[in-house]
Amino acid sequence: MHRIASLNAFIGCPQPEHFHRCCFLICRHCRSVSELDSASIHAAIEHSANPLGFQVEQESVEVTGLCPNCQQQERSDG
Ligand SMILES: [Zn+2]
Ligand SMILES: [Zn+2]
Repeated sequence: MHRIASLNAFIGCPQPEHFHRCCFLICRHCRSVSELDSASIHAAIEHSANPLGFQVEQESVEVTGLCPNCQQQERSDG
């Protein structure tokens, strides 16, 4: 389970037994959540934190936007 702070909700995780850092894509319209496991995002965070002497232990990146379905709806609704 992961906590999504911006939705104040929990979502199931495809790999609950395996500790991992997560990035979430949250649709602001239908509130669907996609879990993204992007090594490049985590590398960028660590790369930015290292010069500050900060050791990253946990990351939960929440990206808000529109999923493909809702993008189509917004376009057709005008
Ligand atoms: Zn997960
Ligand atoms: Zn959506």
